[in-house]
Amino acid sequence: MDHLGIDATYEKWEVTPEGVGEFIAGLRAPGSLGINITVPHKQAVIPFLDEVDEWATSAGAVNTIVNRDGRLTGHNTDGPGFLRALLVETGYSPQGTRAMILGAGGAARGILLALVRGGVSSLVIANRTLERAETLVQLAKDNGVQAEAISLSQDAVSYDALTKAAASANLIVNCTTIGMSHGPDEHGTPLSAAQIPASSIVNDLVYNPMETPLLREAAAARATTLGGLHMLVYQGVLSFQMWTNQDAPVEVMLEAATAEMASRGA
Ligand code: NAP
Repeated sequence: MDHLGIDATYEKWEVTPEGVGEFIAGLRAPGSLGINITVPHKQAVIPFLDEVDEWATSAGAVNTIVNRDGRLTGHNTDGPGFLRALLVETGYSPQGTRAMILGAGGAARGILLALVRGGVSSLVIANRTLERAETLVQLAKDNGVQAEAISLSQDAVSYDALTKAAASANLIVNCTTIGMSHGPDEHGTPLSAAQIPASSIVNDLVYNPMETPLLREAAAARATTLGGLHMLVYQGVLSFQMWTNQDAPVEVMLEAATAEMASRGA
């Protein structure tokens, strides 16, 4: 906003679950452009909005609210931001491709829906807890996309199944917390270089650290790599455009985010 000379500020607010309704009502005030929402309020805000767009409805979650003359609309730029980051940075578009999703939590669900909407032809979902992967497989099938669940673990049978699935994937997306600083397995990687085909694109949603163990393995395998900071920035780019009706200065935002992460030692 400073870069474009827009007279507005972007602030952090901590809101309790009980305070969500009152906080959202305050956004209707003149001068408020809108907000981003993060966990755990992405579903909770929905009843307080006048309208929710198609992406947010299918994701069941809102990450962006726009105020236009006191009327609040809910959007979800996570999925579109993920697709935009991949398209701009690697040229990847899901249409007719095979993708492998590692993980089956909240982020994996959003990524699956984005890939389905983008026309992916088939999906493999690998997760430590197989039942959660199977739930996502059903979601893909309900949307007309062929999908398979496999186990994400270190035993020999799982290793072979993961290697086989990765070998035919055009895109591999890590939606687990493996490799995340201060996470449950911060030095771990869901796949090793020997399992990653050079022809694939490997997108790690983990953005702290910026260079994750998985991205190092993927680089060693000569695959195309993309870190999670790009998705984070591009979902912000799309929110920015909704609030201001102006193109966001993507390079400035990427540089600022990268510098901020570096200053935190990420
Ligand atoms: P979540 O709902 O808690 O899901 C966590 C996932 O990680 C589950 O699939 C879980 O498997 C798996 N997992 C956790 N510890 C594991 C371990 N030790 N070994 C194997 N699998 C393990 O989290 P989320 O909200 O989906 O977020 C996932 C990651 O995506 C986080 O690192 C988050 O920061 C990142 N993210 C990034 C962006 C971005 O803009 N770049 C956006 C959203 C999320 P089980 O089902 O077996 O527990």
